[in-house]
Amino acid sequence: SLSCPVGIADDTEGSDFIFPAIIDRNPVMIAISSSSESPALTRYLRNQLDSLLPSRIPQLAQFVSSLRKSIRSRIDNSQKRQRLWRALMSSAMPNLVLAGKIEQAKQVSDEVIQNDSENKDLQGEVFLVGAGPGDPELLTLKAVRLIQQADVVFYDRLVSPAILEYCSAKAEMHYVGKAMSDHAVPQEGINQLLVDHAKLGKTVLRLKGGDPFIFGRGGEEIEQLAEENIPFQVVPGITAASGCSSYSGIPLTHRDYAQSVRFVTGHLKDGTANLPWNELIHPQQTLVIYMGLTGIRHISQELIKHGMSADTPIALIEKGTQPEQKVYTSTLNDISNIIANNKISAPTLTIIGNVVKLHDKLNWQK
Ligand code: SAH
Repeated sequence: SLSCPVGIADDTEGSDFIFPAIIDRNPVMIAISSSSESPALTRYLRNQLDSLLPSRIPQLAQFVSSLRKSIRSRIDNSQKRQRLWRALMSSAMPNLVLAGKIEQAKQVSDEVIQNDSENKDLQGEVFLVGAGPGDPELLTLKAVRLIQQADVVFYDRLVSPAILEYCSAKAEMHYVGKAMSDHAVPQEGINQLLVDHAKLGKTVLRLKGGDPFIFGRGGEEIEQLAEENIPFQVVPGITAASGCSSYSGIPLTHRDYAQSVRFVTGHLKDGTANLPWNELIHPQQTLVIYMGLTGIRHISQELIKHGMSADTPIALIEKGTQPEQKVYTSTLNDISNIIANNKISAPTLTIIGNVVKLHDKLNWQK
């Protein structure tokens, strides 16, 4: 009997080993296998990845490996080392090495190491990151990078599960609310949680739907961090208005219909929205209403009362950019019927103005 391992093409069962397609950037090696399902697919993926990966990875590996030795001998706390590595890898160093600028890369990493050693207390950092309206491909590259680095994550109802998948499997995940009437954690509580975790030396991710600085209270959440000198970064996200506009084929401005656009919140206090109605009825202006589904009837009536034409087009975009996205179009006068006759659920964004007429022609997400 044979005692040597065999590999048979197209026969995983009969084989002791397989030949994966490989990408070789010594010492980095990537192997891809489709478990013999399709060598053509493995080759395709190999070529895709190969073209994405910089060719100077070997130089980067060498650079990082020599740094590693000196860092290991200087810092024995592993959490501190991890934090320093995060700082190094998100500095300009990797790109400089990949561009062949080794001297500059050394300078940059020396500076990062120097800064780190001056900052002796184990202080964490908070990333306030916009997760966009739902489609994970609308995340920025920076958002993805910071999401992957977090030790602790605080996320909202509006952040889609597909986006949470990008968090590290080791990250501690906390849901902090909020549907309009059900505040899982009150606002002051969230602000404090961010502060407390950063003080423990953690890398804290505050993930918010859309853009954190548009109707998201993102500003409030970092005020306390600023007061307590805790370092933070803010990453913009695609706001619901942009996402819903693109994915419904309703441009927010258009030379024929609107030269300006206005974002307002339709959040109701005491059953009424207190909005500057006269400013909202300008012709050639698109209105985008956030948080307004329950108030949309009231808002349409007020707009008509203040002089906006009753047949002004209006669109409701439900779960914009998500696989379940639905777009309802109507007029100010008839929108109540649409809401009464359909089960429309949050989140929903409202667009009012003549640009809505373009939906029929430009809707590419059928
Ligand atoms: N910071 C967020 C907005 C928070 S307010 C942003 O920039 O998008 C929450 C409101 O945003 C919701 O009530 C809804 O009106 C709107 N919204 C958020 N995501 C949405 C989505 N995927 N589809 C439709 N509307 C959305």
